[in-house]
Amino acid sequence: MARRIHRRIYDDCRIVPIDLECLLRAIGLPVEYVKLRSVDEYLYRNPESGVQFLLVNNRKRRVRQRFSLAHGIGHYFLHPDMRGAFSVGIEKSSADWEADRFAEELLMPEEKFKSFYQGFSFMPYLELVNYLALVFDVSRQAVQVRIRHLNLIGG
Ligand SMILES: [Zn+2]
Repeated sequence: MARRIHRRIYDDCRIVPIDLECLLRAIGLPVEYVKLRSVDEYLYRNPESGVQFLLVNNRKRRVRQRFSLAHGIGHYFLHPDMRGAFSVGIEKSSADWEADRFAEELLMPEEKFKSFYQGFSFMPYLELVNYLALVFDVSRQAVQVRIRHLNLIGG
């Protein structure tokens, strides 16, 4: 799904690091960075009025905010029937897992990620992780998860 969005809606904004603000403008989904108490992001949706917007917790680290933003965009595309969606980090619903996988592919597109990974695989592992985190503007943890999900270790 994230792949299709990259291909279709997203042609202008898909140079890495992925410009999420550009994507949000393209799809017409407003975002606000606010203090949220216990959630990373909240996708507000009112089916009657058609009003939708995304709130992102501005108390989190910037790369975390970016991931939350991508996660919220995942809910926007993958779960159109969800009325309001938010994630609290620990207890994740299956919709949250889907949104996480979406966010991963959105921020670290498979083809680009693999080509960077392979191109710089001469680096010691931790340096490579740091480097990829900078290239894709994500956390080191997100890079490591992506490496595992793409089965790149040892490959
Ligand atoms: Zn969620």
